[in-house]
Amino acid sequence: MADAPQNIRVLSEDRTLELTWTPDRVVKLPFHFVRCQCPCAACVDEHTGVRLLKPATIPEDIAPTGMGFSGNYALKIGWSDGHHTGLFTWDFLDELSNQQEAL
Ligand SMILES: [Zn+2]
Repeated sequence: MADAPQNIRVLSEDRTLELTWTPDRVVKLPFHFVRCQCPCAACVDEHTGVRLLKPATIPEDIAPTGMGFSGNYALKIGWSDGHHTGLFTWDFLDELSNQQEAL
């Protein structure tokens, strides 16, 4: 299981979420990318794992409007499109970071 990032910053001008996992590993995840990867039941079919959310329906200028911790294992993000049911666990954010780093 991934540990919590040491620091999380919302870089509004950059339109990215900056996750500092370790001093040597700082990853910037674009807001739009993170929003489109939302793992909640409204965005992904719980039974089949098929993604229901269509990235084209998410505004380009999507941004977080609020964030909070859920226990010590996840980040809850509220978005400017009114969606706020997504829970991003550290494991999941770690996976998204890997994807972003592989680009
Ligand atoms: Zn969702």
